[in-house]
Amino acid sequence: MINYRSEDEIDLIRESSLLVAKTHVEISTLIKPGVTTLQLDTIAEEFIRDNGGVPAFKGYGGFPNTLCASLNEQVVHGIPNDIPLNNGDIISMDCGVVMNGYYGDSAYTYEVGEVSEKVKNLLLRTKESLYLGIDQAISGNRIGDIGFAIQRHVEQFGYGVVREMVGHGVGENLHEDPQVPNYGKRGRGIKLKEGMVIAIEPMINLGTKNIKQLSDGWTVITTDRKYSAHFEHTIVVRKGKAEVLSSFDEIEKRLKK
Ligand code: MG
Ligand code: MG
Repeated sequence: MINYRSEDEIDLIRESSLLVAKTHVEISTLIKPGVTTLQLDTIAEEFIRDNGGVPAFKGYGGFPNTLCASLNEQVVHGIPNDIPLNNGDIISMDCGVVMNGYYGDSAYTYEVGEVSEKVKNLLLRTKESLYLGIDQAISGNRIGDIGFAIQRHVEQFGYGVVREMVGHGVGENLHEDPQVPNYGKRGRGIKLKEGMVIAIEPMINLGTKNIKQLSDGWTVITTDRKYSAHFEHTIVVRKGKAEVLSSFDEIEKRLKK
């Protein structure tokens, strides 16, 4: 069932999404060689709770932490650990918050120290594809228009679009209908209507689109072990132009992007 949110509900989803954005800001400047994802996870959890939120991922389906921290060839659902980050790594940080009964969800892939040009481009193009998808999230379009825009953009660079995991509705639950694939055909799928709140989250691989899950039951990696990027915003479908409820603005100011 698809929910169409009132402006009051959208205000609450925006608050949760902006707390996610601020949590990203808190950890963004700490990401460097030597730091561990578990240290970042502790900081994120404290920050969320200090600001009146609850980490949405912790305990979700048994997930143990506040952040999904996915390193290099890990696509999503990496579990924070005490292994120091290395120069040249990339780390995808996915974060969710629930506050006042409503969720927000946003992911950003960070560079650790100096990364190669090839990897920088993967991050750049993946982020571009997210915004091209958001451009399509307007009333009257269809869900396939979003995936089509994302897929068309990244495949021209030879990247693989993950199929098994997709974006989703967000609201009183972390994952609601509809599913929002990062691939698709123009004009196909359900019609987008004002008030639909969705997370758009391209997961884009440097090589093959194929993935597998590790024996920890969570971590998803690329089968060719090439790097993978993940950027996600929570947005609301509007007439003419979607509204982005989460934000990368302050992260990018701090990272001088
Ligand atoms: Mg997420
Ligand atoms: Mg999500």
